[in-house]
Amino acid sequence: MLAGKLALVTGSTSGIGLGIARALAAQGSGIVLNGFGDAGAIEALRAGLAAEFGVDVAFEGGDLTKPAEIETLMKRCEALGGVDILVNNAGIQHTAPVESFPPERWDAVIALNLTAAFHTTRLALPTMKARNWGRIVNIASAHGLVASAEKSAYVAAKHGIVGLTKVVALETALTGITCNAICPGWVLTPLVQKQIDARAAERGLTQAAAIDALLGEKQPSKAFVTPEQLGALAAFLCSAAAEQVRGAAWTMDGGWTAQ
Ligand code: NAD
Repeated sequence: MLAGKLALVTGSTSGIGLGIARALAAQGSGIVLNGFGDAGAIEALRAGLAAEFGVDVAFEGGDLTKPAEIETLMKRCEALGGVDILVNNAGIQHTAPVESFPPERWDAVIALNLTAAFHTTRLALPTMKARNWGRIVNIASAHGLVASAEKSAYVAAKHGIVGLTKVVALETALTGITCNAICPGWVLTPLVQKQIDARAAERGLTQAAAIDALLGEKQPSKAFVTPEQLGALAAFLCSAAAEQVRGAAWTMDGGWTAQ
């Protein structure tokens, strides 16, 4: 279905991004992986994905909190044929009350979770417009729609990316380019494991009890969303059937934001 396309998935060395990269590769799309990690492990991931799905898979690093590194990444993608599918997924979290939130963590969360998507989008759009086809999928969060205490930077960035998604959808409405956001609830990835570990330590809970408490607070289904499920949703948004899904903030959150 996506044969001949090239997908850049930011932050795809782990978690949700990797789940989405796998789902797009399964549809025949070429993949550019990006993210941090051990060079040997990343090469094993790259080669494994290429062999499993029979598609071209490249890895292009870059710290996406730095606009100059984003420009380099996008130039490398141009050299590989240009980005048809852009998945803005790389993200970080920091939790603290607003009055003690370290300003440098605020800047880092906004830079990666929001500003990086502005830069990749502005640099990807000319090629998409020339082809009159493109798919931009922004990985926001339930926190793009509702808030939680101690997550000021994350909630601000995620609400911001939902707004950016709507603007880009309007600016591309007369083209074959769509831009949508996915708003996941809890997914068990390294980003969330850190929060589970912190809870377990603070409250003297076992891992299982910390997970129960985490899910019980916000996610009515009391089950994690999986990277595979999010990959399937991203693949749908890249399909022809989703051509008129534009500017959506599509939840997959176990009922979190229905409350
Ligand atoms: P993760 O920590 O497993 O993966 C994050 C990825 O981003 C990794 O590949 C990492 O190397 C990369 N990354 C980190 N800093 C980077 C930088 N400066 N430049 C380039 N890459 C960088 O996290 P995840 O849970 O898979 O999160 C992925 C996205 O999903 C994030 O935007 C996150 O906010 C969002 N999200 C996660 C959850 C959840 O419950 N896990 C829920 C909603 C939304």
